Amino acid sequence: MGANVAAFEYDVVIIGAGPAGMCAGLYAGRAMLKAVVLERGFPGGELLNTEVIEDYIGFEHVLGHELAAKFQAHAEKFGAEIRTSTPVEAITKRPDGMFESRVENGDLFVSPTVIVTAGGTPVKLGIPGELEYAGKGVSYCAICDGAFYRGHTILVVGGGDAACEEADFLTRYAEKVYLVHRRDAFRASKIVQQRVFQNPKIEVIWDTVVEEVVGKDGLMTHARIRNVQTGASRDLVATGAFIFIGFTPNTGIIKAHVEHDAGGYVITDANMQSSVPGLFIAGDIRAQLTRQVTTAVGDATTAAIAVEKFLTARKNGDPAPLPQPMLTGASA
Ligand SMILES: Cc1cc2nc3c(=O)[nH]c(=O)nc-3n(C[C@H](O)[C@H](O)[C@H](O)COP(=O)(O)OP(=O)(O)OC[C@H]3O[C@@H](n4cnc5c(N)ncnc54)[C@H](O)[C@@H]3O)c2cc1C
Repeated sequence: MGANVAAFEYDVVIIGAGPAGMCAGLYAGRAMLKAVVLERGFPGGELLNTEVIEDYIGFEHVLGHELAAKFQAHAEKFGAEIRTSTPVEAITKRPDGMFESRVENGDLFVSPTVIVTAGGTPVKLGIPGELEYAGKGVSYCAICDGAFYRGHTILVVGGGDAACEEADFLTRYAEKVYLVHRRDAFRASKIVQQRVFQNPKIEVIWDTVVEEVVGKDGLMTHARIRNVQTGASRDLVATGAFIFIGFTPNTGIIKAHVEHDAGGYVITDANMQSSVPGLFIAGDIRAQLTRQVTTAVGDATTAAIAVEKFLTARKNGDPAPLPQPMLTGASA
């Protein structure tokens, strides 16, 4: 270890202070565990990129940053120590079973358990207007934002399962959905494609890329699109652009082989434990059906309680620290 590098010992180190990380910090604090939440930026995670939330039970309408501030205050009230501007670069497991979480300045956080809640990042188009109109027309989440587009004309970008499924889903609200795809065929599974082709509210625009999101008075009004075969550009009037060209889970910091699905999301058991004992996973980074604030905090609750049980069993020398749920009706 270098001269200026420090090592800190904790019962549990939580990586990321989004909804999952802050909720895990709250439960760890209530369980009187010595816990730290390491956040590379500011507390809030994707809530800080979300204008309004209307589907978090108990809050009919709350701004993303307001909910983030409430989560932080609540977690800290129960003793969560949140360290901001502290990017974790690597999590490794030592031969003695302890984890080392190394942060950017070289400091080490040593703990028998880690909960990774590092979330993921929607892949961006990288075009003019995309970031400017994020939350004001541009979205990466149909379940979250679809209801704001009741009766609107919108466009969806992409050609995989997510784009096709979400285009179909968004027709519950939108009057018309243009599905803009850069190729002349979808990658989506045939059954999902069929739903798109049979939906009268969807018009597919093939061989076309979105070049710019344009708006007025802070709201999106149209998109500039270009046919890649002919080179012709035109304006497509639409007040929303839902972009589904991929989502990258932030798993690069885990320096061990963890079981994951085809998309790179970490697979856990029902206790949120990964294939590496003592390494727990919660929120958007976890392989699961959906990614919402409710699921992130639900995962985190389970993970923090499981950590507490894991640590108690470890102290008592129990060889099978966490019970796995029994399937009912299984024959012996
Ligand atoms: C535009 C948008 C709108 C949304 N709207 C809604 C909605 O209306 N309702 C809803 O329920 N859900 C919504 N969601 C989804 C919701 O925001 C996520 O499901 C939720 O934030 C997931 O929480 P999380 O804690 O797992 O991950 P995140 O919120 O992604 O938080 C992860 C945290 O980990 C930190 N981190 C990552 N890597 C490191 C590292 N190496 N070191 C330290 N820190 C690290 C990040 O900085 C971040 O703070 C929306 C998502 C988006 C993108």
